[in-house]
Amino acid sequence: MAEASAKGYVLISGGLDSQLAVCVLREAGAYVEGLVFETPFFSTDRARKAAAALNLKLTVVDFTADEIALIKDPPHGFGGAMNPCIDCHATMIRRAGELMRKNGFDFVATGEVLNQRPMSQNKVSLGVVAKTSGLAGRLVRPLSAQLLEPTVPEEEGKLDRAKLLSLQGRRRETQFRLADKYGLKDYPSPAGGCKLTETNYAARLRDLMEHEGLDYLRLVRLLAAGRRFRLKDGASVILGRNQDDNILLEKTVAANEMLVAPSNVSGPTALIVGNVSEADFKDACAIVAAWSKPPQDGGAVVLEVLSQEGDGMFEVPQPYRREDYTQYQIL
Ligand code: SF4
Repeated sequence: MAEASAKGYVLISGGLDSQLAVCVLREAGAYVEGLVFETPFFSTDRARKAAAALNLKLTVVDFTADEIALIKDPPHGFGGAMNPCIDCHATMIRRAGELMRKNGFDFVATGEVLNQRPMSQNKVSLGVVAKTSGLAGRLVRPLSAQLLEPTVPEEEGKLDRAKLLSLQGRRRETQFRLADKYGLKDYPSPAGGCKLTETNYAARLRDLMEHEGLDYLRLVRLLAAGRRFRLKDGASVILGRNQDDNILLEKTVAANEMLVAPSNVSGPTALIVGNVSEADFKDACAIVAAWSKPPQDGGAVVLEVLSQEGDGMFEVPQPYRREDYTQYQIL
């Protein structure tokens, strides 16, 4: 093993395999930094937590524009829902490669394990990703490296191949043993995390794509929150389903949006997004009233309205019935 050590970016998901990739590469003599891609469809919290625990410098890359372009037109199609996994993965690797070159690093690494997922992690598909991402020879899979062709940093002696691993298959006993060895305690299960793989979320996304379009980023970001209504003149109402939703909507309201909540009864908070005509405003208020607990005296629901024009109160008299507004509800 030569003295010079390779510098590389490791794609961090926060799961055990990407954490192990960092530990193994360090042991093989490399200097590594972490890289995580951020979009409205998956959180980077797990990756940030893992990087902090590993004392790993982490770069967060905004991947929203790339992901949206792939959802609009996925060259290799979707997985089970609206997840363009093949292209998403290859594009992330390509972006990582661009950063690698820009910053004079030697390689990009992932925590992939040969044959862990029969379709996407067999020898052929690992090779396809390496090639299509333009990174062939500089894409290192430290957990399975000894079963794959040597990469450039290994051939140059900057990365000690003997210290890289030869894991393969779905069994994870070795990973758990290594986790003990490296003192890794906090690692979430590998599955989950990307909303694009969820059927209900995918249906909402498809609906948004057909109506407002995916370039309406504000609505993309709000897609997982609350119940959504599309009103006659085009404004959108996001209605909290529970206390957590209500708090989230209150926290997220932007300067040009309105927030409406009942003040004389308990009920949901609503965020109104878009150009709000008078008719849409009235319908939005009636929706909040209809989903609130009716006042005991059967009278009006009084709403508190926050907007950039100033705060005020608005009364919704009877009748306020859910069935009058379900036609506007989306999924
Ligand atoms: S699960 Fe989501 S983040 Fe992961 S590759 Fe697929 S689309 Fe991309």
